[in-house]
Amino acid sequence: MRPEELNPLFAEVETFEGVGPKLMKPLGKLGLARVKDVAYHLPERFVSRHAIADLDEGGEGEQVIIALTPVEHRASRPGSRGPYRVLAQDAAGNICALTWFGKAAYTAKKLLPVGETRWIAGRLDRYGDMLQIVHPDHVEVESAANMGRLSEPVYRLSEGLTQPRIAGLVEQALARLPELPEWIEPGQLAKAGWPAWRDGLRTAHQSTDDKARDRLAYDELLANSLALLLVKAEGRRRRGQALVGDGALRAKLQLPFALTGAQARSIAEIEGDMAQEAPMLRLLQGDVGAGKTVVALNAMLTAVEAGKQAALLAPTEILSRQHFETLRTMLRPTGVEIALLTGRAKGRERESILIGLMDGSIQLLVGTHAIFQDTVNYRDLGLVVVDEQHRFGVAQRLALAAKGRRAPHTLAMTATPIPRSLTLAQYGEMDVSRLDELPPGRQAIDTRVIPQDRMEDVVEGLARHLAGGQQAYWVCPMVREIDGVPDLADIAAAEARYAGLKERFGDAVVLVHGQLRPEVKDAAMERFASGQARLLVATTVIEVGVDVPAATLMVIEQAERFGLAQLHQLRGRVGRGAEKSTCLLLRGGELSETGRARLALMRETQDGFRIAEEDLALRGGGELLGTRQSGEAAFHIASLDQVQRMLPLAHADARLLMERDGGLTSARGEAARLLLYLFERDWGVQLLRGG
Ligand code: ADP
Ligand code: MG
Repeated sequence: MRPEELNPLFAEVETFEGVGPKLMKPLGKLGLARVKDVAYHLPERFVSRHAIADLDEGGEGEQVIIALTPVEHRASRPGSRGPYRVLAQDAAGNICALTWFGKAAYTAKKLLPVGETRWIAGRLDRYGDMLQIVHPDHVEVESAANMGRLSEPVYRLSEGLTQPRIAGLVEQALARLPELPEWIEPGQLAKAGWPAWRDGLRTAHQSTDDKARDRLAYDELLANSLALLLVKAEGRRRRGQALVGDGALRAKLQLPFALTGAQARSIAEIEGDMAQEAPMLRLLQGDVGAGKTVVALNAMLTAVEAGKQAALLAPTEILSRQHFETLRTMLRPTGVEIALLTGRAKGRERESILIGLMDGSIQLLVGTHAIFQDTVNYRDLGLVVVDEQHRFGVAQRLALAAKGRRAPHTLAMTATPIPRSLTLAQYGEMDVSRLDELPPGRQAIDTRVIPQDRMEDVVEGLARHLAGGQQAYWVCPMVREIDGVPDLADIAAAEARYAGLKERFGDAVVLVHGQLRPEVKDAAMERFASGQARLLVATTVIEVGVDVPAATLMVIEQAERFGLAQLHQLRGRVGRGAEKSTCLLLRGGELSETGRARLALMRETQDGFRIAEEDLALRGGGELLGTRQSGEAAFHIASLDQVQRMLPLAHADARLLMERDGGLTSARGEAARLLLYLFERDWGVQLLRGG
């Protein structure tokens, strides 16, 4: 149970004045469910506007306030998804377009009757030879005095919300903030000159105050470090079991290749950890294709040789099936019993697996989350391998760890190349092994950057490719929102491209994107994996996904819109077989210098670690901390810059607090508990009470 001081912060937004059922959906989209979510919905930026009397006074890109009179409404053709425009004139008779996309057009109809002057605030840009304001921030009947501050926050929106609306909610949330005891070390607070928590939050909504922002970000970093340290401390408290294998099973493996140096080193590191009684908490980082599976297999066999069971957790049904097939084949000469358990297993099948796990006849289990449901009990689980670590939270890892009579060793694997400076933030105090060397003989993927307007050539090339019996991926940019307005071009892209390609290639094409139901998505993926379908049109959902060696061509549209780490992950889907693979990066328009440098880097190297480091240097690589869009980011408040600047400090502070007061029972310790709740690291607090 959360302490009651925090109750006002966790009150639902439904209790806000003026929030009815209609607002719940757009608020939900932004993750704004409770007072604290709204209070932490910090402005993306601030605009300072100036009032102008005449459009001639305003230049492109300027934020203005101006009185305009609508002269004509222009709806786009029904069903065309085009914008809704209102032409309006200033006092001097200059014309400007006010433009809305999507459902927001309804607002325009109501707010702007022809012939009636309105005060408009927004950013001027150009539309043909006319000026336009896209999605004005304010439309008011009264004078400029009513139009909010000249410098005002701009919040991230979703469809159905407006700036004034959200500003009103923020105001209500800020009024409800309780005063909380201080969790930051007083010396640190004074030295940095940071405000108290509540003042900090209020200030952050009013101005670009770096101190306030830093304090709030620091809080988040501190919460994270503390929680990770609590996990580590808990791991130390729970005894594990020292596991040493005799090598008998591993000797029977008939690997068709010699291990790389990096594989041998990682295996030695893992064996070293497993031979200790303290439970291993190790991350194996290695690019796609670096050969993580054999390393994991070696660890699992070590556990089995020592008389224990091992489990491998994969993020999706398909991935667990693939792991299962691969491992089963490799294990054949060893006689080790392996089973697959996913949510699909029902009735008899499921029952016999559960029994096998309990009596120990199943030595190795592969599966999805289903493998750590309450009803699944192991005879003696010695090792848990978690593939694609970033898809799972620490809480889940703990739930799994709680399965063994003694804490099992944990090996996490990830193909997301994270720069060294950020590993700590993402993975806390895990030890890291890096597979920084690819198995020999890998063919480089021929990567080319091509202007999008050469689409026809690309499709012809694709046709030849498919006719030659190979498979291909076609990736469209992911759904993205611009100032709260979904970019319709993007949403439409994958579907439209699919429709177009289907016309050309018929049933050989399947479509996969995040908005599809899981069964539909899985079915499409399976059709592609089995070779029935030849071309997979997708958004980025295939990023972590299928291994289809016959897929040797990847087309990525508007490649400049993707993060480099993401491009790298996507490209890793090809080049998995013996055939030479190609990756075509289609660029939408003219690129900035950075944009060019980024795509050039993709052409130049396939080293994920290098790409990650340079991406970080080139553009701050916001995606590296986990894709913000999919809600998997490690941090929501702290920016990449803040993480780099303050994480070591927060980590040291957390460590000091733990050293002095590991049970968090002092006044500051109690405050730190509040902090953990505030940032929903409840699992950290729960460990405390358990221990
Ligand atoms: P990932 O790190 O992406 O999980 P995998 O373990 O799936 O990579 O390995 C990719 C491919 O490389 C597999 O076909 C595997 O058999 C092969 N492989 C792994 N290690 C070596 C090696 N040392 N030499 C040659 N091939 C290897
Ligand atoms: Mg793998």
